[in-house]
Amino acid sequence: MQKSQPAVVIGGGVAGTTCASYLASLLPNHPIILLEPHPSLRISSTPTEITRLAKDVTVQTEQTKEWCEKYNISHVKAHARTLRPGKVILENGMHQPFSVCCVATGASPFVPSPLQNPAFQNVVITLRDTQSVQSLSQALSGARVVLVVGAGGIAMELVHEITNCRVVWLTRSHVGGAFFDKRASLALATTFNLDKLSSQSPSDPPRGLEVQPKPHSAAMNPEISFSRSLAAAAVGPQWLRTRYAPVIYDKKGGMNTTQKSIPFLSGGYGGSIQALASCEVVDLHKDQSGRWPVVAQLTNGEHIGCDLIIVATGVTANVAWLSDTDIQLAAQEDGRGGGITVKAGDMESSIPCVFAAGDCASVQPADDSDWFQLRLWSQALTAGRAAAQNMAARLGVGEVYSGLEFDVFAHATIFFGKRVVLLGRYNAEGLCDGYKVYERDGEDYLRVVVQGGRVRGAVLVDDTDCAEVFENLILSKLQVDWLGERLVDREPDLEDYFD
Ligand SMILES: Cc1cc2nc3c(=O)[nH]c(=O)nc-3n(C[C@H](O)[C@H](O)[C@H](O)COP(=O)(O)OP(=O)(O)OC[C@H]3O[C@@H](n4cnc5c(N)ncnc54)[C@H](O)[C@@H]3O)c2cc1C
Repeated sequence: MQKSQPAVVIGGGVAGTTCASYLASLLPNHPIILLEPHPSLRISSTPTEITRLAKDVTVQTEQTKEWCEKYNISHVKAHARTLRPGKVILENGMHQPFSVCCVATGASPFVPSPLQNPAFQNVVITLRDTQSVQSLSQALSGARVVLVVGAGGIAMELVHEITNCRVVWLTRSHVGGAFFDKRASLALATTFNLDKLSSQSPSDPPRGLEVQPKPHSAAMNPEISFSRSLAAAAVGPQWLRTRYAPVIYDKKGGMNTTQKSIPFLSGGYGGSIQALASCEVVDLHKDQSGRWPVVAQLTNGEHIGCDLIIVATGVTANVAWLSDTDIQLAAQEDGRGGGITVKAGDMESSIPCVFAAGDCASVQPADDSDWFQLRLWSQALTAGRAAAQNMAARLGVGEVYSGLEFDVFAHATIFFGKRVVLLGRYNAEGLCDGYKVYERDGEDYLRVVVQGGRVRGAVLVDDTDCAEVFENLILSKLQVDWLGERLVDREPDLEDYFD
């Protein structure tokens, strides 16, 4: 490595801009180059702390030129085509040498093959940026029936926000399946009013939403799924609000969610939502009657005529441009995920001095941690900072990253208008041995996963006060078995036990 060469960051999303600006503060006298083909960048504003680790991140767009000048960073407006030892090869054939480099080229939305039919591309919308959200807004005006495909946060929020048209929501597993196992989804159906889906249209009852007896509280459930990978889902509840509606924070950093719907996502017809679980699109057809622009054939045998199909089914890491290098890449699952393999907190790829951060990375957690990867702004931000710190350390400045962010997964979000905090292995991800799930139903749903006597994960809905306590319990690995079901009691205050 030639230390005098510039530090190069490839990609101007949240991960790349966080990495480049932090590098600029750590290495004020070292040349820093940002490679980004677009004239604008995505920048994270200072996050609002919900707990020590769970933060509300908002993202804004800034002009590349002005932003780079502010941080004394040189901008090279080009696509990276490949990497060679100590240099990036640009699309125009130029070589950009580096001492250390961070790849932050993001991910692209995955579109299932039946929805890629070129004959229907004008009615199939994939959300990837502000522009596609604007075109969605236009396409929705006058829409009668909209099909939303996907179980992640983006789909959940769209279903919640689209008004004045009939929404048919298809999920591969169960409702909320990208985040919660079936049992939690059922309990949360009441919390989020999902059990009232389609209530606005009694003549058209929900067909696919599974309605089962409510599970018994605080019981151990041996059927909970535990080995599902969540690596490819993108969570999107804040994106509509932060771009198109005012966000009001209360004194504790909670979001005021009195605003129920955002009028710009409004169709032209009476509203209703119908959820079809375990259902996918198998084919698209022309409507012989001419009533609908497209008819979707579903795995349950139904044919649904609709005006628009919105696809939000996960992302694929943008790493194809590295295919002629030796860099270690993670395997994709069903065309989703993949990415440059890096260790959590270390962020260095299999090529020395080449780091990776954000959606293009496949981050491997430490064995004993309660952290896992979800492609989120907050994780792009943390990874960008960790990469910058380690890159600077490689150049002899400062210490390597040693923070807590990769010890416990923490995400604060809004689902269906309610503040939700997800902590650790809240869905019992990867917990093969016996674990217990304690739940408190109702408006302020609480779920705590306990294994080996200690808290491994928690979901808190509308109760951010307790979130800090559970985060500390996960971090401290304190024994809580003696509390049993009192862990999820409303009274007395849990904090009293741990003072
Ligand atoms: C519609 C949508 C809504 C979302 N909403 C939320 C939300 O509400 N909350 C949340 O936490 N997360 C949300 N996410 C996920 C979040 O956007 C991502 O996790 C995060 O933005 C990833 O940041 P990044 O910097 O890794 O990648 P990106 O933001 O994708 O940036 C990658 C950059 O790299 C550049 N690039 C690509 N290839 C090259 C190349 N070869 N050479 C040079 N430059 C290149 C691109 O131009 C781009 O600017 C959402 C995602 C989508 C698609």
